[in-house]
Amino acid sequence: MSLLQLIRGFVGRNWRAYVLAALMLLGVALLTVWLPRKVGQVIDALAAGTVTPATLVHDMALLLAAGLVIYLLRAGWRLQLFAAAYRLGFELRTQLYERLTLQGPRFFQRKKTGDLMARATNDVDAVELTAGEAFLAGFDGTMTLVLVVAMMALGIDWRLALIALLPFPLMALAFWVISRHVHDGWRRSLDRFSEMNEHVQETVSGVRTVRALGLEPRAGADFSAKAGAAAAANFDAQRWESAYEPAVGLTLTTATVLTLGVGGWLVQQRQMTVGELTAFTMYLGQLIWPAFAAGWVMSLIERGKAAWARLDPVLREPPAIDDRGTRTRVVPGALVLERLTFAYAGGANALTDVSVTLPPGTTLGVVGPTGAGKSTLLHLLLRHYEPTAGSVMLGGHAMDEYRLAALRTAFAWVPQEAFLFSASIAENIALSRPGATRADIERVAQVAAIHDDILRFPLGYDTPVGERGVTLSGGQRQRLAIARALLAQGDAAHPADVPILLLDDALSAVDTGTETQILAHLRGVVQRAGASRTSIIVSHRLSAVVDAQQIIVLQDGRVNERGSHEELLRLNGWYAAQWRYQQLEESLR
Ligand code: ADP
Repeated sequence: MSLLQLIRGFVGRNWRAYVLAALMLLGVALLTVWLPRKVGQVIDALAAGTVTPATLVHDMALLLAAGLVIYLLRAGWRLQLFAAAYRLGFELRTQLYERLTLQGPRFFQRKKTGDLMARATNDVDAVELTAGEAFLAGFDGTMTLVLVVAMMALGIDWRLALIALLPFPLMALAFWVISRHVHDGWRRSLDRFSEMNEHVQETVSGVRTVRALGLEPRAGADFSAKAGAAAAANFDAQRWESAYEPAVGLTLTTATVLTLGVGGWLVQQRQMTVGELTAFTMYLGQLIWPAFAAGWVMSLIERGKAAWARLDPVLREPPAIDDRGTRTRVVPGALVLERLTFAYAGGANALTDVSVTLPPGTTLGVVGPTGAGKSTLLHLLLRHYEPTAGSVMLGGHAMDEYRLAALRTAFAWVPQEAFLFSASIAENIALSRPGATRADIERVAQVAAIHDDILRFPLGYDTPVGERGVTLSGGQRQRLAIARALLAQGDAAHPADVPILLLDDALSAVDTGTETQILAHLRGVVQRAGASRTSIIVSHRLSAVVDAQQIIVLQDGRVNERGSHEELLRLNGWYAAQWRYQQLEESLR
């Protein structure tokens, strides 16, 4: 979709506001062209000596009233029009936000947060300006131009009008040249602004690393360079924009000189009155606005086009995962992975031929060296990515038969790095079930062995975390994330709703004792609820999976060993060696 199509569509939907604004503008234009004519008549009457105090007061009152009405109409059209333009900004931002929420990890790896934020702010503003100011300045300018030229040519003298308008085609040519530069200038300016935004966002998010590595001077210098480039690009765009004004001034001065020369001669020849010449010169002065408007509109359109060229691809980016499934409820049953194979874009296989059958209510342990594909396996279950080959079935149905929303409630995923929002601890836990009571929240916090830690915070469960609150340790964050995942579960009455728990090394930052306690709690809770929970526990520490009914050892994306803890020890492979090593390590603590 081009910018023109976007704005045409928007104007079509909001035509009432635009028509109303246009009518008010028409009123302004008519009154504006009437004014000089009236002034000319008053001057001629004064020269002829036919003015009485009564007619003078009457005429002055009329002029004043016209001025007032012009003021009101001008305020009116601005309110109509800019309200509509803000609506377009709102619509674009909503679309952008929705599109972003549909994107998967692949998209966010390619696009930087700072850049996306710049698009949602600066670029939307530029498009908004095109739908508002540019539209109306264009309409108003054209209308004023037509009326003023008509008054000059038909109302006063067409020969003088022809001569006075001679310099205008040259101005149009100058505008065309300037607008090319303005477009390029704005495109560069918006790009540089994005780069500066990216830099700020990354430095602020990574401020601890920047400080720890003593990178402040370099980050500062980088920022200065980027801010300087953004300012220079902006200045460059503005400099080209400012070239419109002298072009208008020069054109009008030339036109005025021509008018006075030729008009003066016409007055001498008695083909024109002084009043008519005065009115004509005033009309000429009124051409300032259409001339400015033309420059302004061109510049706004170029700015809007440059911004739209940056917004459109993001708005059109297809969602990462097709949400075409029709099943809105996940059928309880086994989770079956059948020769699951996956490669990240441009990479080698991260998973190859992984087959596992996980009966409901059982636990699968997934272990293996770093980079073996353990997290990738969980991403595929959550449909963050589509498998390259093979399939995943849940309750006898392929994953893509389910609606994404249904599928994702079927899993309670605890990622390695849990994100905490700037909210209270209780709110952060209740994220997975907004209506949860305090008792529910405390219950899951106890299971996740974080309850006692929370009570030690100044405001307990109401302690804010994030930017203006306490900072949680890595282990506390992990346990909070587990509590959050547990809250998403159903209850004893709806055991089928108990989601499959996916722990992605979610206990790596807690000590072994707490880990054992949490895992025991998890089993106990599930038994008490009368439901059986299916779990997949990814862990680099084998102690987390000893009780799992099945354990798979992934190496280079392939299942190299499988069995229960005892079976794997007997196999005497990677698992057995790793187990002995970790036991030794633990005993040395
Ligand atoms: P593990 O969880 O076992 O440490 P991962 O599943 O994170 O391993 O990674 C498996 C392989 O896939 C690694 O080689 C890793 O470099 C690669 N990988 C992980 N995430 C991505 C990604 N987003 N893009 C490209 N390659 C990735």
